[in-house]
Amino acid sequence: LNRRLAGFGTTIFAEMSALAAATGSINLGQGFPDTDGPEEVREAAVRALRDGRGNQYPPGPGVPELRAAIAEHQRLRYGLVYDPDTEVLVTAGATEAIAASLLALVEPGDEVIALEPYYDSYAACIAMAGGTRVPVTLHPREGRFVLDLDELRAAVTDRTRLILLNTPHNPTGTVLSREELAAVAALAVERDLLVVTDEVYEHLVFDGAAHLPIAAFPGMRERTVTISSAGKTFSFTGWKVGWLTAPPELTAAVRTTKQFLTYVASGPFQYAIAEALRLPESYFEGFRADLRAKRDVLSEGLAAAGFAVYRPAGTYFVTADIRPLGASDGVAFCRSLPERCGVVAVPNAVFYDHQAQGAPFVRFAFCKRTEVLQDAVKRLSAL
Ligand code: PMP
Ligand code: GLN
Repeated sequence: LNRRLAGFGTTIFAEMSALAAATGSINLGQGFPDTDGPEEVREAAVRALRDGRGNQYPPGPGVPELRAAIAEHQRLRYGLVYDPDTEVLVTAGATEAIAASLLALVEPGDEVIALEPYYDSYAACIAMAGGTRVPVTLHPREGRFVLDLDELRAAVTDRTRLILLNTPHNPTGTVLSREELAAVAALAVERDLLVVTDEVYEHLVFDGAAHLPIAAFPGMRERTVTISSAGKTFSFTGWKVGWLTAPPELTAAVRTTKQFLTYVASGPFQYAIAEALRLPESYFEGFRADLRAKRDVLSEGLAAAGFAVYRPAGTYFVTADIRPLGASDGVAFCRSLPERCGVVAVPNAVFYDHQAQGAPFVRFAFCKRTEVLQDAVKRLSAL
């Protein structure tokens, strides 16, 4: 392994899923649903396979039907108008969109600001691009992990190339507010920065929280790459259909790197997701209502078991503080949890450079059947 990737051995998600399998534990570590997405979308994939749509290399930028559906989704939901031919790119999951964007836009030595805790692939992709990661820590305050705008401002230097944003935020569940996003946008415009924004949880927001794409803020459309994924919105994490929307020059740049990473992926599934994006609003509402109920089962169960819980406004993760349980090292806690009570969680510390800040927090996924969550809660109550 080259020096740039030293220390990026196995992802925490693979490690924790393997631990769950080896110990027969309930896996609330890696974030994937234990119920597949809508039947009609699966049927659409079967039809595409049978009719021979996408069984051979689809067009590099993605099939026209899906690019049109993505553009329509951005326009109808956010009033963001993108040309499906020059401003939309289909990728092998959001993971590839992140990698291709960073490889295309970051020069060796450029600084990339990322909200800490950060999703694991950000650090690896910044490293692969030869960039320098500059983490800005979200601080726990009154039940929410909060972005300190002064700290963000102070993190920008002459070498800052871009801000890598993530809202709704994995693992904290924070949904950045209009005021926070407006401040990030103003800073990006003032310092002439690009923004790559990971919005894969855009539809997973609760309690009236609204997801706002930063591309819609003044001066931002021309400097923003917006990334999303069908894995989260439609519960098909195995299909690996992701995408990005960006102005033509940025899309062209990312298309260049993307074509040498995978060229294309997920042929028949692209057609199915084109249909999924046009599901009636009742699908999105039902999905959210279901997840919200699951969030509450898990959050209340964790609180009853003694954790200090940060009830998330978005995503399908709950971050909890283990200190009320008399523990302080989340990594050790998560290593021993399967043995102690048959549950797997992820230590947030692995998403931090400032390890001490993340040490007491652990993340539990709630995209699981209610009876599974209830069983997990029962097991955790024995701690
Ligand atoms: N970004 C974030 C914040 C995520 O949580 C995930 C998946 N867990 C991804 C990107 C990757 O998405 P995909 O599976 O579409 O590659
Ligand atoms: N994004 C998922 C999570 O945060 C996992 C994806 C993966 O395993 N790479 O749990």
